[in-house]
Amino acid sequence: MISVSVLHRQGEFALDASFEADQGVTALFGPSGSGKTTLVQMIAGLSRPDDARITFDNVVWNDTDSGIFVPSHKRRIGYVFQEGRLFPHLTARQNLLYGRFFAPRGDRTMGEDEVVSLLGIGHLLDKRPSTLSGGEKQRVAIGRALLSAPKLILMDEPLSALDRSRKQEILPYIERIRDHIKIPIVYVSHAIDEVARLSNRVVLLEEGKVRAQGTPAQIFPEVDNLPENMAPQSIIEGRLIGHEPYYGLSIAEVGSEIITLQPVDLPDGTMVRMRIPATDIILALERPENISALNHLAGEITTITSDGPHVLVSLDCGGQRLVTRITLLSAERLRLKPGLRVHALFKAVTVDGGSLFHSSVGPAFSS
Ligand code: ADP
Ligand code: MG
Repeated sequence: MISVSVLHRQGEFALDASFEADQGVTALFGPSGSGKTTLVQMIAGLSRPDDARITFDNVVWNDTDSGIFVPSHKRRIGYVFQEGRLFPHLTARQNLLYGRFFAPRGDRTMGEDEVVSLLGIGHLLDKRPSTLSGGEKQRVAIGRALLSAPKLILMDEPLSALDRSRKQEILPYIERIRDHIKIPIVYVSHAIDEVARLSNRVVLLEEGKVRAQGTPAQIFPEVDNLPENMAPQSIIEGRLIGHEPYYGLSIAEVGSEIITLQPVDLPDGTMVRMRIPATDIILALERPENISALNHLAGEITTITSDGPHVLVSLDCGGQRLVTRITLLSAERLRLKPGLRVHALFKAVTVDGGSLFHSSVGPAFSS
């Protein structure tokens, strides 16, 4: 487990952040300039905070009180940057071997073949970075990080320079690392789709401070005005139970309810995480008939909070937490109040790939 507590001032900017991260993916999520990169550089030992206590598995990496500062190369971190930062004069294979060079012999847990097959980069090994696509470069960069036998992986906006389809191509590889290699990952991003899909813990940063931390299902419905000016988002976790090829829809089971999804290319039984923006949910007092929205969940209002000309209405739908943003006018017309039973309606959930969390942990990957 990693535990971070830092205080630091650089120019106008003050960082005052504490968080803990364990197995899986911990997302440092926040708008540009909120201090994410500054924070991961401190974890990596690439910068020295004014005041810090950073420990990893009870080993002190940085403690200003007792003057301890473990240099970067002794922290055993795999660092993946926004742009791959591969050596341009080396082939992909040579770049990978460079990573392994840093792994102490006894710790070389993953071989080159294993990493190559995990990331699907066998056909790229003799190429130089200039001839690789952005997505391919990132896969090689991730491979290089893995071959250094890291105890922790830091990824700083690893997908933000890529277009949408390249992003979709790489996300499954990051999931494989999370689910099969089980090295903790601290994943920096300002993109909610990546974070909702990958992370099991979110640390929300704003102006150098931790505004909230918890699971995506705890954080995203709670927080208004997420990065990119997004409304709060409900997170529902369910199990894929079928596909309707004729209608081009997938179906997930959430408790005793069924949720209709846009088609998802994953096997039945997979646990998926669905994300619904608060602006996409309609409330009704009775269960409406003859309405195109495919998803109807019955629930009870838990809280109503004011949000300018809107209100945020939170619902408990059989244990699932939903939040919707409606106008104050609608809330008054419907006489909404805590305790009232309502129906939440929304269209087939758009699973843009990115809103999916693929948490089924199967056997070790096979090549
Ligand atoms: P993020 O990664 O979340 O976009 P950064 O950690 O890069 O944010 O930056 C946080 C703040 O620190 C910004 O206001 C940025 O301008 C400032 N900053 C970053 N690096 C330096 C530096 N070396 N010296 C002074 N200010 C910096
Ligand atoms: Mg940054």
